[in-house]
Amino acid sequence: MADSFDVVVIGGGPGGYAAAIRCAQKGASVALVEKAEMGGTCLNRGCIPSKALLGSAHFLMLAKHAPLMGLEISGVKPNWAKMQSRKNAIVAGFCKGVTGLVQSNKIKTFEGRGIVKAAGQVVVESASGQTEVQAKNIILATGSKPTEIPVFPFDGETVISSTEALELAAIPTSMVIIGGGVIGCEMACVYATVGTKVTIVEALDNLLPNEDDWVGKMMVKEFRKLGIQSLVSQKVTAVQAAGGVAKVSLEGGEAIEAEKVLVAVGRTSVCDAETIENIGLKTNGKAIAVNGKMETSVAGVYAIGDAVGTTYLAHGAFAEAEIAAENATGGDETMGDYNLIPRAVYTFPEVASVGKNEAKCAREGIETVVGKAAFRSNGRSVAHNEGAGEVRVIRDKASGCVVGVTMVGASVTEMVQTARALIGSSERIEDVSFAHPTVSEVLKEGWEDAFGISLHVPPRKKG
Ligand code: NAD
Repeated sequence: MADSFDVVVIGGGPGGYAAAIRCAQKGASVALVEKAEMGGTCLNRGCIPSKALLGSAHFLMLAKHAPLMGLEISGVKPNWAKMQSRKNAIVAGFCKGVTGLVQSNKIKTFEGRGIVKAAGQVVVESASGQTEVQAKNIILATGSKPTEIPVFPFDGETVISSTEALELAAIPTSMVIIGGGVIGCEMACVYATVGTKVTIVEALDNLLPNEDDWVGKMMVKEFRKLGIQSLVSQKVTAVQAAGGVAKVSLEGGEAIEAEKVLVAVGRTSVCDAETIENIGLKTNGKAIAVNGKMETSVAGVYAIGDAVGTTYLAHGAFAEAEIAAENATGGDETMGDYNLIPRAVYTFPEVASVGKNEAKCAREGIETVVGKAAFRSNGRSVAHNEGAGEVRVIRDKASGCVVGVTMVGASVTEMVQTARALIGSSERIEDVSFAHPTVSEVLKEGWEDAFGISLHVPPRKKG
């Protein structure tokens, strides 16, 4: 007889393992089906390996700044093989950790491809055959894959995706990155710092086009200091790869040669085609369609994370996992405001935002007052030679409330949680004590400036 569970989760990434653990915490019997490594894209081919490489690159960048700090360091250079093995060890450690966590929560794991045959029935297909499991509820957390441009598909060698970019055998002399979004900008920082000549080609008129315009403009300037060339409003018309070199042709007629071409133009949601067909699962054209309870069109089947394609963020998947897990175990929860899921980009300098940005407010006709504070006026940032960047705090003029914060600067990915906690808090900013000197004070200054009460920002000109 087939094993039977209260909940079967398909996919062991941040969405899947978090959902499985939460269901187990609620007392449910849980199975987790994963066809590759536990931890999914985030742990194996995304967030963690990229941060490991960025960590090494950041260290190298700081070492290069040593003379500015009154230090003499010589002979600092990247050892790519060691950077790679360090990254691999970090990934392996966290993979083991997640596997252990899943086991300690008494979740039964199945290795193989999970296919939903019918509501309540999952088949796990592996090299050793097929196993059938019964489930009262099913949570699909099947993730995403790098988006391919059909006219110049990935070849895995010269035209690569972020997966290969994280594990190149050697530092390339040159790289063209197609797409100036999150992945493009983060990988540009890694490679430019270790010595690759990097050119970013972005189709829209700015880097990180989902952020406000000033962010992308500031990043173009900061990237120039790292030796990164940013070509915005530029379309790639062709990529021809031969003999380990690629020729990237731009719409204007210009061509760039590079050893590697990283295509980073987004991610495509993944859902098993057989599952879709077997149970008549509705999609929205790009991903599995769900409502705020993370319910799909089929009763007893939930979907979360990159498979539903709302945030394409690991912590977005965590949030959705909790909602699906609650609902699959008898609860009744709905996802909160997606705007309040922080966005963090680990570039040099970092970018982070939460809530509505200025562009979104403008689109929604919200009149705003924008508080600003610069990192160059923050004592700790200047002392650390990290005076680049700015905080903007966006206040709705009508309600008087802060609705969003956008930041560029060192450590802003750590400060964005404070911004999130402050949005909607009834506490007045002037009553919240920030330790001095800290980088976080720049957030307080920007926030106070939005109310015209910053002590360290000059008064606004009247008129
Ligand atoms: P993205 O959506 O962030 O950026 C893709 C960029 O490519 C956009 O700026 C887009 O305008 C541009 N583009 C699209 N087609 C193009 C073309 N033909 N030529 C030139 N430019 C083109 O996607 P991504 O950077 O690939 O990242 C994928 C997903 O992974 C994102 O949703 C991202 O949020 C997530 N991710 C997040 C983090 C993080 O949170 N730090 C890190 C990596 C990835």
